[in-house]
Amino acid sequence: MFEWSHSAVREKLVVVGNGMAGMRTVDELLKLDPARYDITVFGAEPHVNYDRIMLSSVLAGEKSIDEIEINSREWYEQNHITLYAGDAVIAIDPAARNVTSDSGLVVAYDRLLLATGSIPLVPPIPGLKLPGVCTFRDIKDVDTMITAAATQKRAVVIGGGLLGLEAAWGLKRRGMEVVVVHLMPTLMERQLDVPAGRLLQRDLTERGLNFFTDGQTETVLGTDHVTGVRLADGRQMEADLVVVAIGIRPEISLARAAGLDVNRGIVVADNMSTTDQNIFAVGECVEHRGQCFGLVAPLWDQAKVAAHHLAGGDTLLFAPQATATRLKITGIDVFSAGQLNAGEDEDEIVLNDARQGAYRKLVLRAGRVVGVVLYGDVSDGAWYYEQLRKGTDVSDIADRMILGQSATTGGGAPAATDFSKMADDAQICGCNGVCKSAIVQAITDKNLTTYDEVKAHTKASASCGSCAPLVKQLLAATLGTELTAEAAPHVCKCTSATHEEVRTGIASQGLKTQKAVRAAFGWQSEDGCGSCRPALNFYLLCAWPGEYVDDSRSRFINERVHANIQKDGTYSVIPRMWGGTTTPQELLVIAEVARTYDIKEVKVTGGQRLALYGIKKQDLPAVWGELTKAGLVSGHAYAKGLRTVKTCVGLEWCRFGTQDSTSLGKKLEHLTWGSWTPHKFKMAVSGCPRNCAEVSIKDFGVLCVDSGFELQVGGNGGIELRGTDKLCHVTTEDDVLEYCAAFMQIYREEARYLERTAPWVERVGMEYVKSRVVADEAGRKAAYARFLFSQRFAQDDPWAERAEKGVDALEFKPLVMEA
Ligand SMILES: Cc1cc2nc3c(=O)[nH]c(=O)nc-3n(C[C@H](O)[C@H](O)[C@H](O)COP(=O)(O)OP(=O)(O)OC[C@H]3O[C@@H](n4cnc5c(N)ncnc54)[C@H](O)[C@@H]3O)c2cc1C
Repeated sequence: MFEWSHSAVREKLVVVGNGMAGMRTVDELLKLDPARYDITVFGAEPHVNYDRIMLSSVLAGEKSIDEIEINSREWYEQNHITLYAGDAVIAIDPAARNVTSDSGLVVAYDRLLLATGSIPLVPPIPGLKLPGVCTFRDIKDVDTMITAAATQKRAVVIGGGLLGLEAAWGLKRRGMEVVVVHLMPTLMERQLDVPAGRLLQRDLTERGLNFFTDGQTETVLGTDHVTGVRLADGRQMEADLVVVAIGIRPEISLARAAGLDVNRGIVVADNMSTTDQNIFAVGECVEHRGQCFGLVAPLWDQAKVAAHHLAGGDTLLFAPQATATRLKITGIDVFSAGQLNAGEDEDEIVLNDARQGAYRKLVLRAGRVVGVVLYGDVSDGAWYYEQLRKGTDVSDIADRMILGQSATTGGGAPAATDFSKMADDAQICGCNGVCKSAIVQAITDKNLTTYDEVKAHTKASASCGSCAPLVKQLLAATLGTELTAEAAPHVCKCTSATHEEVRTGIASQGLKTQKAVRAAFGWQSEDGCGSCRPALNFYLLCAWPGEYVDDSRSRFINERVHANIQKDGTYSVIPRMWGGTTTPQELLVIAEVARTYDIKEVKVTGGQRLALYGIKKQDLPAVWGELTKAGLVSGHAYAKGLRTVKTCVGLEWCRFGTQDSTSLGKKLEHLTWGSWTPHKFKMAVSGCPRNCAEVSIKDFGVLCVDSGFELQVGGNGGIELRGTDKLCHVTTEDDVLEYCAAFMQIYREEARYLERTAPWVERVGMEYVKSRVVADEAGRKAAYARFLFSQRFAQDDPWAERAEKGVDALEFKPLVMEA
């Protein structure tokens, strides 16, 4: 440890660059030793420090310049920082220890911090100096684009990387016709592999962007103003605005002129000092052990290290971590980190559902994740990234890891909300490097109760904002029962509306389509995203049974038909076995199917069914056809709906049995199969308190006793083990069915999508559940009636249709059953 200085005579620190890394370093330094330095900051831009990341959102019209300001003028004054904004440093004299600015100021320093960032790459193409051409780096560029979009029509963006696409989308949102010219065959090729890049292009094309890939810009056309762009292969397009976004290079000119070691960037040691021990450097301008940087997450680590040494410390060293990339185009979900493709001795696991626009790839080396690419559903991004960052040995789960955290760990909440299983040092905010424990500690130590407070105190989600929903969920989870309405999670990042607000709005405003809901709540994205579409689909199904038609595209991958793809590319098929029973005839059919189609494995599942594994894709229709003919229906093994009703043999065979648990289990299964619920729903019936069917870890469990039936709810045997709570005691089987249906109906009408009964019961409290299901007899009967009505439109067995239409028609459809 070292002691911070409290000297009355302050040293002089000059900072060159009023950007993100420089000012973060100052921020860290003020926390460590606010009295150590007189600080002078020079910024080439005429602004206070702002969040450069958010320029994309400003261009897209989602934020104003004021909203992206990080430090106000008052902040500089309060912290006794002299700011020269709009006055670039033009020379450093390391021997005399002073800098000279463009306006002629000469300021002495004891320590100098270089944070000059990057400058956009502009290739030597004729015409790029014409009016109407700009880059995408700062407020001035954004102003140029916004002004052009107000009066002009056609824009060409050169560069189909992250910045180019965000620029193109922003211009499109401002009404321009936009063509993206990209040198490579697929977009964002540095962050996405070829299939993901293609999906991205397909989705952006659907949203109205145009692409010229494999396009080498030869000339920018025009005499007084840009008029078009010609490519080397002769393709040509008209343009009123050309945006060049092909990359960046570190701004090293000052450092080089001052005689510091430079390469691609300013060469720094692990303590962020340059070759002059009085001069430190941070941000995109540096090169550390041969590596330069283009995302903010590593810059925050650099800032901490530089501040530590500037404050007199000598222990903290910079060691770059893998970074994760997200694209900030609302409704397009992309996540990538690490290696894109497997090399020798490495494995790739891929799940590609091109029709549904979902794609996942993991690259593994020696049982460890070294790369992840997600497109469409990125909810598991944080979990994969955590494994990658920590180098966790995932050999044991590698075979199913591609299906995501909940599939891998056998159930439970999705990765984003699975905080109890999340390591303390798991990163929540990649941009600002804020981990779970830092947020939890801030919430508890400082009694934070709102998202804004958490953001202000921890900086989590204060940059690109994509982790805001996760931060809100962590706040809610940490506050537990003290959850305030304000802390209730938003449906997703497309909206600030909570689940409850949306559900209420759907009913009270009569909203009957996803589009109408998005319009009513001012969704930021026209089409929603992979998180809100399944949620809205469920809420609408639940609110308007028989009226709203289920949208099979709005499903999580596990639920969609490809979800039963196995790691070797074959499929599994799991017939329903009512109450865990079967017949010789069914067994013969299953055996015959398994033999005919060379099915590798027939396995008894935990839910008392026979699962067929290793079916080739081309055999699926025939397998479904054979099973359907024999009356075997889908077990909905991947549904957010009723899964299984597990039973013991009960009174009929067991000498301890008190009731006929098997037949009661079958009745419950026939009553509830095909029903949609916010998450999967499992049941069990045990014939006596020995509880062989494991009632106490089910969503709804029935424990048979001599005097009747003890009903239990809210159990979970997955990652977050939770024993059931006793609901009540009833005396007849009819009561069991009524209470079960009422509980299920109230759960599905009131829980948040993807909330299992266990957290729901904890959130609302058992007293509340009892008050609705037990105490309020009329309310229970009404809920039972609503349940029965909804069941007329429950999911049918999808196999019959699939068998007829073949593998390309893998869709669930609602069924109108006999009244
Ligand atoms: C549109 C856009 C979107 C982005 N989105 C993301 C994202 O989603 N996620 C992510 O992680 N990163 C993103 N980035 C990258 C991120 O903004 C940068 O990594 C970060 O800003 C770099 O910080 P820096 O301090 O090194 O450079 P900057 O923030 O650029 O600051 C450098 C400052 O130094 C000034 N300067 C240069 N020379 C001098 C001089 N001689 N005298 C005085 N001042 C000088 C410059 O004018 C500039 O203001 C994005 C960048 C852009 C442009």
